[in-house]
Amino acid sequence: PPDVEELGRSSWTLLHSITATYPVQPTPQLQNETKSFISIFAKLYPCWHCASDFQAWMKEDGNAPRVSNRDEFGRWMCEAHNAVNVKLGKKEFDCGKWEERWRTGWKD
Ligand code: FAD
Repeated sequence: PPDVEELGRSSWTLLHSITATYPVQPTPQLQNETKSFISIFAKLYPCWHCASDFQAWMKEDGNAPRVSNRDEFGRWMCEAHNAVNVKLGKKEFDCGKWEERWRTGWKD
């Protein structure tokens, strides 16, 4: 089975990179496809307790995917990642900086 930490780092890179290239004005069709992608991703994520906690988090009030534009989606993904950070006792990331980290870029 995949290493949960390595899998996580690669997956967050993919997910935040998707938000970074998401349109500023997505079509309604793309918004629906994006919600489907997140829902299926959360079902197929190959760490069962991670997948199940992620699905449960998305069902809480205010945590449903927000995909109406790039900034909303990027911030939503940052909040999703922060929920895992909190659960694992890691530092929360400042979501005002998601775009600097994942789009306009710094390296760590
Ligand atoms: P990561 O958390 O992988 O972060 C990588 C980089 O992203 C960081 O260096 C930082 O620059 C940036 N970053 C950090 N926080 C944010 C943020 N909020 N927004 C934007 N950028 C940020 N692991 C478990 O042990 N148990 C779990 O239940 C679990 N659930 C997961 C659920 C999902 C959906 C995913 C994708 C991963 C999950 N993981 C889980 C893995 C975990 O989140 C980490 O990826 C892993 O512990 C490695 O952590 P890391 O400290 O290397 O950095």
